[in-house]
Amino acid sequence: MFFIDIMNFPFGGGCDTCAPRLRQGAQAMQLFTIPRHPRHAQIETLLRERILILDGAMGTQIQSLGLAEEDYAGHGGGCACAHHTDHPQKGNNDLLILTQPKAVEDIHFAFAMAGADIVETNTFSSTFIAQADYGLEKAVFDLNYKGAQIARAAMDRATEIDGKPRFVAGAVGPTNRTASMSPDVNDPGYRAVSFDELRRAYGEQIRGLVAGGSDLILIETIFDTLNAKAAIFAALEAFAEAGQRLPLMISGTITDASGRTLSGQTPTAFWHSVAHSRPFTVGLNCALGAAAMRPHMAEMAGVANTFTCAYPNAGLPNAFGQYDETPDQTATQVAEFARDGLVNIVGGCCGTTPDHIAAIAEAVASFPPRVVQA
Ligand SMILES: [Zn+2]
Repeated sequence: MFFIDIMNFPFGGGCDTCAPRLRQGAQAMQLFTIPRHPRHAQIETLLRERILILDGAMGTQIQSLGLAEEDYAGHGGGCACAHHTDHPQKGNNDLLILTQPKAVEDIHFAFAMAGADIVETNTFSSTFIAQADYGLEKAVFDLNYKGAQIARAAMDRATEIDGKPRFVAGAVGPTNRTASMSPDVNDPGYRAVSFDELRRAYGEQIRGLVAGGSDLILIETIFDTLNAKAAIFAALEAFAEAGQRLPLMISGTITDASGRTLSGQTPTAFWHSVAHSRPFTVGLNCALGAAAMRPHMAEMAGVANTFTCAYPNAGLPNAFGQYDETPDQTATQVAEFARDGLVNIVGGCCGTTPDHIAAIAEAVASFPPRVVQA
């Protein structure tokens, strides 16, 4: 069979249209030759032995602390002062990395001791796009860098106690804008954000997460695949700069009964849209409880030739926006994912506590991990 050796393609030639495309293609191929992060092999070995456990909802734990505006803003000390702004900060959970680092570390630690092998940094909204709501665009690198360090410290604390290896996943949220749809029903062609703006925002975030010591990068709660593609692009650029490639975890969100993401993709379509990045894991999180997520996870597990990861909410929210599923209820349903060979990593999203994670860890312990088809 004839094929072009793209790495050695003579880029001096080619027409104006083809040459830049080929050059971009070669650069993209070169990204896959960057050495893997040193802990990649260790996680992979563990994943072939057993189902690994991801943590639960940081937001649910933070809510239970009942923090006030001054706790968030950290006036009276703390490094938020370096990024001083007059915007109210209550509800800016990511900022607690700078203003209440001990509280954030203790939550990570609680999840680790409950059985989580992997914890997510508290950086879901740490992009200049999402932080613009709080006037803290300039704090973004610090949030991600210190967010990873705090999670790492909590994991090391837990490992000192029981000797188990633990990993930090740098969490990358979808931002509060969507690149492939218009927020204005009267102007369907309008976009509140561009691919390139997202790429820059995610690039800044991921550089901070990598520099802070993350072992993996988790692009999660993806409702718009175009946003995720910008995050993937930014991640690969950041890995190239750092000279090492971290395992990428990619997690979509099915938002309603039609079984599609907000941008209209089924799990199969979603997989094919992100497969080019050779993700370490692909899966689903949020929006649905385990029971409703199950058929979509089964579809994903059927098509993806990589590890899978599922972390549903603790059921659906009640009228007050709270989650009623008990740890046993959630764990029983997640155990069915494991029994049916759908998952390699499981955890919890909105409403899940350390007790949920402990129950999930116990419930899946006896099941072998899903076998990845080549
Ligand atoms: Zn969630």
